[in-house]
Amino acid sequence: MKSRKTISLVAGGAGFIGSHLCRALLDRGDEVICLDNLQTARNFNLEGLERHRDFTFLRADIVDPLPDAVMRRRDIGRIYNLACAASPPQYQADPEHTMLTSVMGTDRLLRLAEQNGARFLLTSTSEVYGDPEAHPQQEEYRGWVNCTGPRACYDEGKRAAEAMAFDFARLGRADVRVARIFNTYGPNMHPDDGRVISNLICQTLSGRAITIYGDGSQTRSFCFVSDMVDGLMRLMEAPMPDLVPVNLGNPQEYRIVDLIDHIVAATGISPGIVHEPLPTDDPRRRRPDIARARSLLGWEPRVALEEGLRITCAFFAEELGADLPATRESLSRLSVAAE
Ligand code: UDP
Repeated sequence: MKSRKTISLVAGGAGFIGSHLCRALLDRGDEVICLDNLQTARNFNLEGLERHRDFTFLRADIVDPLPDAVMRRRDIGRIYNLACAASPPQYQADPEHTMLTSVMGTDRLLRLAEQNGARFLLTSTSEVYGDPEAHPQQEEYRGWVNCTGPRACYDEGKRAAEAMAFDFARLGRADVRVARIFNTYGPNMHPDDGRVISNLICQTLSGRAITIYGDGSQTRSFCFVSDMVDGLMRLMEAPMPDLVPVNLGNPQEYRIVDLIDHIVAATGISPGIVHEPLPTDDPRRRRPDIARARSLLGWEPRVALEEGLRITCAFFAEELGADLPATRESLSRLSVAAE
């Protein structure tokens, strides 16, 4: 007898990570329902996915009541919540909406999970650790978040969403997973996303000076998107002995100024540099401790920054119409971006 397909709902499925996740779920044989308000996503990310017969796109904002086509269902098996602007300039543009996306949106999706008996995965964030005093950040660390600052709409929204997910689980209302995602990059990012990797690559490729905020000594750890999607899918499927969040990110840590040499190597261009003020509450350092993901999921990032940047530069060169030998070569080896 033919086994039935798993029906997976991906909120935020037209976004950067969400679009790669939808592709990976379709490749695995799932039927995928993608909800997205297209606030920060692009139609580009849906092209290709929409040609797949098992893919359905519904334009919807999870702050609002979910579409009838979703609410009528009782056969959804997996619900991934990736819906929320994640770049500081974008999530700060409408902070009330950002907070509600995490709180109201997660509540609606958790209720949908309860109604379907579906497993629910929340994509939380390294931002729950705020500007961390503990380094690297383990899941036990409770964070140092400024609840009145400009990042609070995102950080506190995600912290509240985590609280709600764990309460649903404790009450037996839904089987939940919580991933704390650290900085992630790769094809399908928006050129105007505003985050450091997309900014530096797009500025370099279009002949502009790159913007370094502050002196660039602050650190981040960058995970390539295919590794992140692999981690999310493993987390969703793994048995979880305890009700705990799991860090997902690449533990290799870089100062922001260190990225400059990597961008030069990946593009073959030496850009000018301008320093701009450090944004308020910008975390000084960030690096995941991934011992828990290693032991529970058998997960480990595999794509080194050099390789990931080459692929991402190739993607943006294509997007921006920048013709560079360094990127042409990588593009021919790549299938991750344009399918
Ligand atoms: N940053 C930078 N130049 C840019 C964009 C960001 O120097 O054009 C810095 C930013 O101040 C932060 C780091 O790069 O310290 C990562 O910023 P991003 O917005 O990518 O993500 P965050 O981890 O802050 O959410």
